[in-house]
Formats: sequence, C-alpha cells, structure tokens
Amino acid sequence: MSEIKFKKIKNLLSLPLNDLILQAHQVHKKYFKKGDVQLASLISIKTGSCPEDCKYCPQSAHYNVDLKKEKLIDISEVRKAAQVAKKNGAHRFCMGAAWKKLKDGKDLDSVVEMIKEVKSLNLEACVTLGNITKTQALALKEAGLDAYNHNIDTSPEFYKSIISTRTFDERLETINNARNAGISICSGGIIGMGESWDDRARMLEVLANLKPQPESVPINALVPVKGTPLQNQSPIDPEEMIRMIATSRIIMKKSRIRLSAGRKYLSNEIQILCFLSGANSIFYGDSLLTTKNNDVQKDQELLSKYQKIDKNNLKELINEYLIIFTEKISAVRQYNF
Ligand code: SF4
Repeated sequence: MSEIKFKKIKNLLSLPLNDLILQAHQVHKKYFKKGDVQLASLISIKTGSCPEDCKYCPQSAHYNVDLKKEKLIDISEVRKAAQVAKKNGAHRFCMGAAWKKLKDGKDLDSVVEMIKEVKSLNLEACVTLGNITKTQALALKEAGLDAYNHNIDTSPEFYKSIISTRTFDERLETINNARNAGISICSGGIIGMGESWDDRARMLEVLANLKPQPESVPINALVPVKGTPLQNQSPIDPEEMIRMIATSRIIMKKSRIRLSAGRKYLSNEIQILCFLSGANSIFYGDSLLTTKNNDVQKDQELLSKYQKIDKNNLKELINEYLIIFTEKISAVRQYNF
C-alpha cells in the first residue's frame, strides 16, 4: 500500500460536506455490507489512580475528580457484564484498566482469565491495559484475545501538550507488540482537545500509514470532565465529527471506524450521517468507562432507522439531514482548515 500523504488528508477534510459524505459512502459501500454496524460493549475492570497525566482523563491520579476508584474487579463481575452485553446483542466485549502498563503476575493472570471467560460466551474480546511487552502480548493472544485498544490520541506534535508522562513512540511500541503477536489493533484518537485541523490530519496520517492499518479506528469527541485540565474545553461542532469519520473511511477503507465517546451529544440525524459517511462500529451500553453513553433501547431504534434507509435516494437524504442539522445550529460554520 502506498503512503497516504498529509496533503491528501487535508484536502479531504476540507471538501464541501456533502461531497465528502458521498465520496466516503461510495468507499463504504464497496467494502462493507449494508447496515453492518459492530456493537462493542465496554467495562472498566480497574478504575482510577492511573499514574499517567492524560489531560482529558478523569482516571488520572494527577487530577481531583469526583470518581469512584476501584481495584481490579472480580471475574464474576466480568462474567455478569459480558452476559448482559451478549443478551443485548453486543458483538465485542471490551475491558479497560487504568494502568500505565500491565504487570506480570497477578494482574496478567487475572486478565487472561477474563479474556477466556469472554471468549467462552462467543464474544470478541478486546482489552486496553496501558503498555504491554512482547511476551505479555503473546500471553494475551494465547488466551484468545482478538483486539488490543491503544489510541494514539492526537498528532505526534500535539501529543506533548496533552500527556507528559509517556511518549508518542511508546504508544507505537505497544501497538507493534500487539500486532506482532497476531492481535488485531484498535487505535484512534480524540478531537476537541484544542488541536488544530493540521493535528487532526497528522493523527489520521499516522494511523493510515501503520502497516497494516488498524482494524478498528475509534474517533472520540472530548467529553470534558470537571477536575481535569480540559474541563472548560468548548464542545466540538458535530460537523467536525462527520468530517473526521468520512475522511477516515476514505483513507482506511477496510477498517471499522468507530463513532465513540461524545456520541451521546449528537442528534440522531448527525449519527446517521456519521454511519452513511462510514462509521460502522459504536460503543453500545449505558456507560463508557467513566462517562455516560447512549441508552441501549434508543440505540436499537436508531440502528433500525439507519438500516431501513433507502440508499437509492442517498443524495436527497443527505441534503435533507444536512438541512435539519444546519437549521438546528442556525449558522453555517467556517473552519480554518
Ligand atoms: S487515558 Fe488511560 S493512561 Fe491516560 S490517565 Fe486515563 S487511564 Fe491512564
């Protein structure tokens, strides 16, 4: 695969919105079946007291946040949560631990058992545990792990403004360790942290040029949490989410693009525009580690509405939704691409 250039990504991000959506939709149609959306449930298996200082994260020990901290939970809680997720129709079960790195011994052994438990329910298993070594990656793979989540968060340049306790290269090293062990990669980032469009393009450039590209790419919008340094950050305009998703779809044709954190604040029309632009995975369940997610029943209604869309009238539908959207925000935004 030839290198995907920054300039091409910037050009895509700044296309007129309906052109961008239509182009992304054409790619999406070619590589994925109609209405195919992966449902991923997420639980926190160890909450808070993380030594890292990610400025967006309520789980960091560096900030004074109203958060119920929890040690590594018992396997019986994982079993219960995975059973509920399965019953609600989830395909993938993700487990997140607020660690800088996975420790050998008790922690690794417990996670291995949790993975086996999830796999016994015929769910895909994904974990996010901080940095992992090559040997640990092999142990997780051996337990049956399908995917490892390790987001690059933002561009290499902006990264230092968001996290000082680890480097961008350390992130890439863990991604490589998981990849080399035969585990599929889930890696994306967050928008709305004060980064520029250049940073967003650079983040997508790094992801798109991983060889191979990540199988899953979560695009998150910052959910500002009181007590974190980014608590006063203004919310993103939903259009920015659509642009990021559509561009990700065009440059990472076969990846699952996940509409992730911040989805709760998007209207149904915007979420459907995100699906039409190539999003084909969502976090499904009432909570996302420590922030709220969409109601399960409302999500089922939304997905059923999306699956019934007549794609033959797509151009009209996109225009109609864009009109509803523009009326809601009652202004046309000009971005400084
Ligand atoms: S994002 Fe992860 S690594 Fe960073 S502080 Fe939160 S839990 Fe720790």
